[in-house]
Order: sequence, then structure tokens, then C-alpha cells
Amino acid sequence: MRKIAAGNWKMNGTKASLEEIRALIGAHPAPGCEMLICPPATLIAAAAEAANGSALTIGGQDCHAAASGAHTGDISAAMLADAGASYVILGHSERRADHGETDAQIAARALAARAAGLTAVICLGETEAERDAGRTLDVIGAQLAGSLPEGADAANTVVAYEPVWAIGTGRTPGLEQIAEVHDFLRARLIERFGAGAREMRLLYGGSVKASNAGEIFAVANVDGALVGGASLKAADFGAIVAAL
Ligand code: 13P
Repeated sequence: MRKIAAGNWKMNGTKASLEEIRALIGAHPAPGCEMLICPPATLIAAAAEAANGSALTIGGQDCHAAASGAHTGDISAAMLADAGASYVILGHSERRADHGETDAQIAARALAARAAGLTAVICLGETEAERDAGRTLDVIGAQLAGSLPEGADAANTVVAYEPVWAIGTGRTPGLEQIAEVHDFLRARLIERFGAGAREMRLLYGGSVKASNAGEIFAVANVDGALVGGASLKAADFGAIVAAL
């Protein structure tokens, strides 16, 4: 299993931030592990060029389901690939909330990503109200069923569990809560896609930082992290990569 430390820069970063990319190239993930940064679309080409030949891979934060056409402001998966991306985050809770993205739209984008040769990092997670109501596994199960298209496998898909209430809050679930969801995800994935889904990477995201990354990576069925704030600086993210 190639564990991944993935950074989601969200709507942060200008050309000056390429300095962080250049600094990260000096961070060496453990053998068999990967590091990925998903900068804003404006920086993908330059980041991919800077990272070329290194262990750092670059991804997008969303893509359109169509290959091209009259979709002002959108970016296709083929365009991301052309700019040097090899991954794309899909269905992040901020996009589900800000843009009303549905599971069906996310699944369609994942198919477009696959057609363009990108690996989709499909995000799911419950809100605090859903957790408090005891609905976490129902919500996650429905998102998993709806957001992953047929034919998802360990090569074309990564799943990221990001409890909405843990994103940017400094609060993380207990390790046993993370384990419960990741065990559930693994079981559902194997049920639907077969034994090959044992190799599908399951990332945890939400307030991951250098000081908690090691204990989170030690949880069964956690194959890495999707990191927001702590991915913006090479020093912080490098320490998370070192914990893989
Ligand atoms: P934080 O690491 O800033 O909590 O963000 C997590 C996230 O949303 C990554 O996609």
C-alpha cells in the first residue's frame, strides 16, 4: 500500500508559494509512500514543473464532468492532466456546501478524471449535527455509495474521510472514532468492488498536523492524510510526510 500525505491548499497561494513547493522537493517520503500537493488551479502548471522528477506529485481540487465545452470558469480533467496534475480532489465538503455538489455530480466527475488518467481523491464526511444524531455511518455509507462510480479501484480512486466538524477547527475525532469509520469504509468498499479494494487508499482529513499525524497514521485502515492548513508551509507538511 502506497501511503499518501496529500495537501489541499484550497483557495490559498500565489506564485510566491512555489517556494514551498521547491522546499518540499527536499522532503523524502519513506520508501513506497507518496506526497501530493493540490494547489489552486492557477499554480498547477508551475508547481508540476517545479516538482518534475521529484517524489512530489501535483493534483487539482475539482474538475468538470465534461471533457470540454461551454462551461465558463470550469476546468476539465484533461486540462488538469495537461497542466501536469496526476490527482484531483472531488466532492470536498466545502464544494458540497458552497456549490451544492451532489453525490451524482461527484461520481460523474470521477469518471471524467479516470478518462483523463487522473486518480480521484473522493471526499466524504458527516457534519457535527449528523454525528450527534448518531447518523455518521449512514451518512458516510450513502456518500460512498453515491460518489464512487462503477469500476472504482485502488489505482483510480482514493477515499478521504473528512468529518466536516474537524476541518479547520483544531478538533479531531478520537482514534477509535477514526478507526470505526475507516473499518466501515473498507468493508463497504470490499463488498462493492471486491477484494482489490483492500488496496484502495483511505485518507483521514481534518486538523491533521505534525503533532497528531503519527498516531492517526497508526490506526488500522488509515493509509495517509488529506491536510489543509498544515500543508501550506513546507516545514509543517514535511513533518507530516516524515510521519507516514
Ligand atoms: P484542515 O487540515 O485545515 O483541517 O483541512 C482539512 C481539509 O479540509 C483538507 O481537505
